[in-house]
Amino acid sequence: MPEILQKLNCPDCGGPLKVQAGDAIVTCGYCGSDVNLAVGSKYFLKHSIIPPRIGQDSIDSVIKAWMGRGFLKPDDLARKYKLVSRELQMLPLFIVNATVRTEYEGEITRTGQPAPRSGVLEKEYYWKVLGRRASAFPTREYQVPLAAKEDFEISKLVPGIKFLNSEMAEDEAINIARQEMEAHHRFLLEKELDTLSRFETKFDIRNTEFLHVSAWFITYQYNGKLYNLILDGATGDDVKADIPQKGKGLFGGLLGG
Ligand SMILES: [Zn+2]
Repeated sequence: MPEILQKLNCPDCGGPLKVQAGDAIVTCGYCGSDVNLAVGSKYFLKHSIIPPRIGQDSIDSVIKAWMGRGFLKPDDLARKYKLVSRELQMLPLFIVNATVRTEYEGEITRTGQPAPRSGVLEKEYYWKVLGRRASAFPTREYQVPLAAKEDFEISKLVPGIKFLNSEMAEDEAINIARQEMEAHHRFLLEKELDTLSRFETKFDIRNTEFLHVSAWFITYQYNGKLYNLILDGATGDDVKADIPQKGKGLFGGLLGG
């Protein structure tokens, strides 16, 4: 049986809410209020946006400029690429501000004589968690263009944009951030120490921000192969790029390819 979603109206303006399967926080397309579906009421999480600046009218020239830029790309890329698809998405992101403190004990054994080590690793983070469960978006590497951050308003979206609601509420995002920050501390300590006999982490979660950022998901073709490209919808910078190998035509024969 297909999933039937209840018809819901915005508790703030009464407008119909566009709810997709899996959504947890739904942003009203009329007034911009956030509704927590688990609670069914207006949600007072601070909501910001990095407004998209590259719309349908300018993306093609931004892509063309990207193809011709940089010495790592094939010289004929800007001439020979073919655009297969492009979609502007508005992605939900949580930014969890926390201080993470790990007390540890362990040993360095790589030098022969085991040398005990103990101490405290304490760092402050603005940890990013994507509010979507399946996305090719590289959240960890993504540099949020924070200088362009504004209060969320529905009028700041551009026509044709695919607006994605968050599939998790704040508490789940914080849990994911805690797990990832703890794993990051373990990673940092395991680089220095060969054994860890004690590893205790405490979190001071200060603030969580809810933010929508924009990205163009692009697929293009070059020499018969498909490549993916993600460009920041506000700045046009690379977020993630598959780049064809340079000089393949030149050395392909020599390498037996
Ligand atoms: Zn509304």
